[in-house]
Amino acid sequence: LSDRLSGVLDKLTKQGALSEADVATALREVRVALLEADVSLPVARDFVKAVQTKAEGQAVTKSVTPGQQVVKIVHDELVHVLAGDAADIGALKIDSPPASILMVGLQGSGKTTTTAKLAKRLSERDKKRVLMASLDTRRPAAMEQLAVLGTQIGVDTLPIVPGQDAVAIAKRAKQQATLGGYDVVMLDTAGRLHVDDELMGEVAAVRDATKPHETLLVVDGLTGQDAVNVAEQFDGQVGISGVVLTRMDGDGRGGAALSMRAVTGKPIKFVGLGEKMDALEEFHPERVAGRILGMGDIVSLVEKAQETIEAEQAERMMKRFQKGQFNMNDLKKQLEQMQQMGGMQGIMGMMPGMGKLSKQMEESGMDDSVIRRQIALIQSMTKKERANPQIMQASRKKRVAAGAGLEVSDLNRLLKMQRQMADMMKKMGKMGKKGMMRGALG
Ligand code: GDP
Ligand code: MG
Repeated sequence: LSDRLSGVLDKLTKQGALSEADVATALREVRVALLEADVSLPVARDFVKAVQTKAEGQAVTKSVTPGQQVVKIVHDELVHVLAGDAADIGALKIDSPPASILMVGLQGSGKTTTTAKLAKRLSERDKKRVLMASLDTRRPAAMEQLAVLGTQIGVDTLPIVPGQDAVAIAKRAKQQATLGGYDVVMLDTAGRLHVDDELMGEVAAVRDATKPHETLLVVDGLTGQDAVNVAEQFDGQVGISGVVLTRMDGDGRGGAALSMRAVTGKPIKFVGLGEKMDALEEFHPERVAGRILGMGDIVSLVEKAQETIEAEQAERMMKRFQKGQFNMNDLKKQLEQMQQMGGMQGIMGMMPGMGKLSKQMEESGMDDSVIRRQIALIQSMTKKERANPQIMQASRKKRVAAGAGLEVSDLNRLLKMQRQMADMMKKMGKMGKKGMMRGALG
């Protein structure tokens, strides 16, 4: 997956500017990446459309490559969609005690585990008195499971009374919470293998009986295309206030996160990262965005793309250097590189002897505006003059300086710099390629 994207980047970074075709090519691959990450088809389609609109409306930034720009737009949009209103993340509305939190979801999604994890967090981190109740009357061991976890984390659970249905248990739990002075009561419901009317009916009845402050949908992060369906059903029929994504410690891509955000618009609040009781974190949109795109870290990919161009340019230039060549075209490339990097780093700094020269240039005030003017001077030269700067005589100098709106003295400084660098190249050429590489690495 990341190979696919960096392949696109490689293609794009060889071109000069972000064109409509660039955007289209990149987005085709992004769409595939999203689908491979288990984002549902309609969500992936809409997302790509949104990105396309944004990308086309944006001016091309000279200082980044097209690949960087497309990936940044995609990544930013992904984070934007995933994050929504960031204030919702990790936050629960539990200020009026006893506040009830209803945990819903399919069987095996991690409801009971997450109930206990959240209870632990609320009691330890937020100093809340928490009561947990299992409303799972289907599976014989479900209530015991929660009781065992409660003991383990030091949180109270509602005493088990056999024969009660989910609504009756929920009412008893609320009563107990009020009487016992609890701040929060957590209601862990039963799930089903699939969404069905019976499940929805039961959960809706519990909702009506308890008027929960939060209804959290617990979804297995490894859920694929079905995540949209699950989220739609629960939100439509029960109404959810947020999502908890579990099993994000696994190797799922987390596409379910994007699907559910897009379909319900409800915040993803927490993420489960293991079976242990403290394996619960607030949702980090940046991390999941990187994961969906198949990159651990978008920045490192952008850097990799940058390195690829640098390496190619460096190699091309080295070949010329070996022959002792360094004309105005080379100088222009160097200047543009400096501009891109925002300073005197990169290839020049890596090469023996060049580091010193670049330092001199920096000390002599080679800032952005100076670099811009020098590039303007080179641009106003003819092709012939750029390739053979030694032919620059007085009349040519006058014409070139005027063309750039500058003085002949400015041009003289540029020519001097070019000569100095050409000299340096000649010396380096004698060292041979191997020597230079060693020097560059050492
Ligand atoms: P429920 O049926 O929705 O109540 O699901 P459970 O809470 O009983 O969890 C089912 C299984 O998933 C248990 O073995 C849990 O330990 C495991 N589980 C829950 N959350 C996570 C998680 O975030 N990561 C991992 N690796 N396992 C989890
Ligand atoms: Mg359970």
